[in-house]
Amino acid sequence: MKLKVSKFGGSSLCDATQFQKVKQIIERDPQRKFIVPSAPGKRHREDIKITDLLYLCHAQVSHHVPFTEIFKVISERFLQIARELSISIDLSTTLQEIQDNIGAGASLDYVASRGEYLNGILLSNYLNCEFLDASDVIKFHEDGTVDLAKTQSMLETYLQDEKRYVVPGFYGSLPEGSIKIFPRGGSDITGAIVAKSVNATIYENWTDVSGFLITDPAIVPGCRPIKTITYRELRELSYMGAKVLHEETIFPVLEAGIPINIKNTNEPENPGTMITSYRDPINPPGSITGIAGRKDFTVLAIEKNLMKNDISFVRKLLSILENHQVRFEHTPSGIDSLSLVIKSSELTGKLDKLIEDIHVHCKPDLVEIHPNMALIATVGHGMAYTPGISSKLFTALYESGVNVRMIDQGSSEINIIVGVENKDFEKAVASIYNAFIV
Ligand code: ASP
Repeated sequence: MKLKVSKFGGSSLCDATQFQKVKQIIERDPQRKFIVPSAPGKRHREDIKITDLLYLCHAQVSHHVPFTEIFKVISERFLQIARELSISIDLSTTLQEIQDNIGAGASLDYVASRGEYLNGILLSNYLNCEFLDASDVIKFHEDGTVDLAKTQSMLETYLQDEKRYVVPGFYGSLPEGSIKIFPRGGSDITGAIVAKSVNATIYENWTDVSGFLITDPAIVPGCRPIKTITYRELRELSYMGAKVLHEETIFPVLEAGIPINIKNTNEPENPGTMITSYRDPINPPGSITGIAGRKDFTVLAIEKNLMKNDISFVRKLLSILENHQVRFEHTPSGIDSLSLVIKSSELTGKLDKLIEDIHVHCKPDLVEIHPNMALIATVGHGMAYTPGISSKLFTALYESGVNVRMIDQGSSEINIIVGVENKDFEKAVASIYNAFIV
């Protein structure tokens, strides 16, 4: 049977009006069988997410400070949604029970998960469908990793009927029964795990934007959306700072080859962005898929005459980084030179000693430190095997007066990374966008 798993984020379920939109979306398509809600998110900029309020309740209790006023705000959010939608279920007993458990010192995981739990109960009532408590179906191993086999066998039993199910996001349970949550933003992960477990044809991720944009709209206003993107491209872009899905979302569905469709609850007709596991033939040769970047890197440029004759040079260099617990991002190299590109924050309080150790152990001729560097990744399968891409990119940078300080291209050819000075970052991103997209 063809079925969809549809996850709705916090902004899609923040109030009664959003619930109505979600209902319409779900009921339009009978294939939407498993619905995964987040807890209610912000209704406006100054608002506070339910999950944040729950974290606050837990913190208050741990510091022996009263929490009932905060819990009242949480209860009122749910009761207001129920009232406005005339949802018949009486939440007061459940809310009282949760309040008592929090007061009695319930675990952080239990407390944080109650937003999704309560929202799941509300939504299933409103949709007139079944509620599946995630603690009964999303199972973790003792060590905190997801028990996919067990989760799959729990969820498979619900595939036999025609019913629709609501499975709250963000949590599951450990073998001994206690609640365990995913990292923040983890309802995305629940959705992916459910999609894999029930072998969905598609994993829909409903949010408040119509998919991903080619680059940051703060840099390129009116920037175009990405229609299709492969998991590989997405990984490259999110690594370079594009804010996309929760990183762990990708893996369960990637393995199963299930596409993810990012859709907008407020604009359901918009096709959004489709994330696929294959190379996308729609993106034509010569095109790019996205541009992402980050500021504040430091480049350590190390030179040593006849470097390649010192067979232990790179090992010694990397051991020094390991000893200082400094992670690096890239190591572009040339004849007798090697550079380390490192996030500047990694080097706080460590730089002087690190350089000293490099001098002592690697005996370089020169170590230069270049702070305030930004990296920009231009990503796309359409770039591979296409002559002229680099020339177009570097011409664009040249024409806008950006000095390229570093170039790194993986052999896969789907990503060209350039290093520029922080001050040139926005100009560089905009010039690449204009060269390829406009
Ligand atoms: N409600 C949780 C959070 O705020 C999980 C989620 O929304 O995905 O992190």
